[in-house]
Amino acid sequence: MSNPLPQPEAERCEAEGATRAEILSWPARSAELGGGLTVVRALPLRQHRLVGPWCFFDYYGPLSFSGRKAMDVAPHPHIGLQTVSWLFSGEVLHNDSLGFTGMARPGELNLMTAGRGIAHSEETPPQNSGKLHGLQLWVALPEAERRREPAFDHYKNLPVFEPGGGHVHVFMGELDGARAGAREFSPMVGAELKIGANGKLGLPLNPAWEHALVIIDGELQLDGTRLAPGALHYLGTQRHGLELVSKAAAHAVLIGGAPFGEAVIIWWNFVARTAEEIRQARDDWEGRRQFSEVKAYKGERLKAPPFTVRPIASR
Ligand code: MN
Repeated sequence: MSNPLPQPEAERCEAEGATRAEILSWPARSAELGGGLTVVRALPLRQHRLVGPWCFFDYYGPLSFSGRKAMDVAPHPHIGLQTVSWLFSGEVLHNDSLGFTGMARPGELNLMTAGRGIAHSEETPPQNSGKLHGLQLWVALPEAERRREPAFDHYKNLPVFEPGGGHVHVFMGELDGARAGAREFSPMVGAELKIGANGKLGLPLNPAWEHALVIIDGELQLDGTRLAPGALHYLGTQRHGLELVSKAAAHAVLIGGAPFGEAVIIWWNFVARTAEEIRQARDDWEGRRQFSEVKAYKGERLKAPPFTVRPIASR
């Protein structure tokens, strides 16, 4: 997707630097995008901006529709990141400037590595289930990889396991010895969790990593603390495991990874290190340089919002 809540200024994002286990709950922002599609932004937030290499976390839906495209995001550019498209229901068709096509469906990951630059579109396909509910996440690429050649990958058969009363689907990185095996450039985890009513889900974690939970639906308790939907629950580091307890059935997403050792700058659909790089990428897109066209998309491409180079907002 294209960032649906653009900021006028670039945001500087860096690791929280937690050295212990804690629970910090930061309220998410939500926006109505029209057509009944609500997007909730859990990252970046002013108080906390990276969890491992994860720098952006939006979820949208659930939405039921008929006779129209629930999602229709025209071609737009990305640099310096990977987009992770993971659906709970529905379908999203990806087309990009390399000529790749990929259909994201529940349990099937669309992973786009932007590197030095790529453009893509994402839309509801003509044959669809009339439902849409899912995630758009971004992973920041480390300095040594952020100018690499762009790529697109589609993955099926990602690892699923069912510890106790729960259901765990690993879509990026590694959790409890289960590896997604996707194209990855930093140590990380991204996993969908489902727990039945009056359930318990125990998961081992890497204590050197930081982690966060976003509750999509229902409610969970961790260490006696209630974790509600509509927030990002940052869990810190030095956790050897999680024991999640549910009263009602719950649906959540776990992200984490080794604390990212670099501050990144985020604006619109770009992840960079300086405002000048952002300005250059914006000018390249508007000037039709560097980024090729998405030939499979019928329609106009997105225009970049205005960008003014200002002192970058920091914490
Ligand atoms: Mn996009």
